[in-house]
Amino acid sequence: MSAEVITIGDELLRGEIVDSNKALLSELLLRADLPVRFHVSVLDDPQDMADAFRRAAQRSAVVLVSGGLGPTRDDITLPALARCFGLSLQLHEPSLRAIRAFFRERGRPMAPSNEKQALLPEGATALPNPLGTAPGCMLRAGGAVFFCLPGVPRELAHMAEQQVLPRLPAPGGARGVLRSELLRTFGIGESSLEDELADLARGEGLSLGFRTSFPDNFLRPCARGASEAEAGERLAGLCRDIEARLGPLLYGRGDETMQVVVGRLLAAGGFTLALAESCTGGLLAERVSGVPGASAWFRGGAVAYANDAKRALLGVPDAVLRDCGAVSEPVALALALGARARFGADYGLATTGIGGPGGGAEGKPVGTVWVGFAGPQGARAARFHFAFDRQRHRVLTTQVALDWLRRELQGVPAPAPQLLKTFPPERVTPGTG
Ligand code: ATP
Ligand code: MG
Repeated sequence: MSAEVITIGDELLRGEIVDSNKALLSELLLRADLPVRFHVSVLDDPQDMADAFRRAAQRSAVVLVSGGLGPTRDDITLPALARCFGLSLQLHEPSLRAIRAFFRERGRPMAPSNEKQALLPEGATALPNPLGTAPGCMLRAGGAVFFCLPGVPRELAHMAEQQVLPRLPAPGGARGVLRSELLRTFGIGESSLEDELADLARGEGLSLGFRTSFPDNFLRPCARGASEAEAGERLAGLCRDIEARLGPLLYGRGDETMQVVVGRLLAAGGFTLALAESCTGGLLAERVSGVPGASAWFRGGAVAYANDAKRALLGVPDAVLRDCGAVSEPVALALALGARARFGADYGLATTGIGGPGGGAEGKPVGTVWVGFAGPQGARAARFHFAFDRQRHRVLTTQVALDWLRRELQGVPAPAPQLLKTFPPERVTPGTG
């Protein structure tokens, strides 16, 4: 039994937006153990849609469709689906009432065109949409089951999770149950990762996928078993083997980002954090403050870009700035200590570097970054050299800084200055490199 995803919209084929719905729906189908065989994208064109629906019904058991449920002229997914299978459109009263209520609750007038969103192909089951106006629907037609979902990613994600997932057919057969996990690693390149784990997941029903999500690399271990319990046990065993190999390079699971992990560790120890950012320009504070509950452990941060701002906001001595330059070990140390002291935090993290493309100098090429770290046991700084572009240097710097703090709080060695090249992880002498 295979599945197919069809995304609809001119903007997708013009390259104006990234087709994130396709990824989201495919991930959902993976979780339901329904292998996706085809991804199709079509224009807002009734003939093209009908062709796509017909072909999908011939070759796939489950078809997830995104987009074109809105009230505008180009939103014609349901009429096209109905016509394709010779069905009429019928007014679905409960959906019309839900659309009316949606506008009433928001104190907004309802345009007549919104009524057409309650027209569903005959025989379809309406899927409620609490986040928007357009209901989705489920329709058995042409030997397949179609799920039509709104294009707006937030609405689609909610409907997919709440309405589609519970209705997906069981894959059946003797294949048993599939369980998978997402493991997040930082500080090791994809090919090193693959080499290091090459002999794992070799057994029947086990697999291991690799994916880069800059600056991290993700692993997707999967295990099949005769029952939930057996699949879960096999998956846990595989995860344990991976963890034993990678040690602190593995930092989180599922949607645990680095800042979430750091926040949890800070909260558990009753510690607080302050930031002093130069080259990352507030990106670190943005990431940290995005964690729900950050107020329990995040004291604040300063973006000190110019030298006099570093002096005024964080007390970096003039002489140090003059003699060593802003991108230097003493400045990184002074920034971290300044953040810690001025915000009254247990830990201070600081970034200063040359993002590029210009600004490189003799001995300080573009991509040179100093990260400063101050804690109850004193301050250290480490120099990194990155070879990407301005935006990725900034992102990578925030991850290095957070990872340093994570390792400190977990009592494992700090990241190697030759980051992304070193394996196995080495003990670093902070402040060198
Ligand atoms: P609406 O009521 O907003 O018209 P709709 O169900 O008709 O919803 P579309 O018109 O196809 O959906 O898309 C609405 C918006 O959702 C698009 O402008 C786009 O920003 C986003 N969107 C649509 N399809 C995708 C997709 N495949 N991936 C990511 N975003 C998408
Ligand atoms: Mg639309």
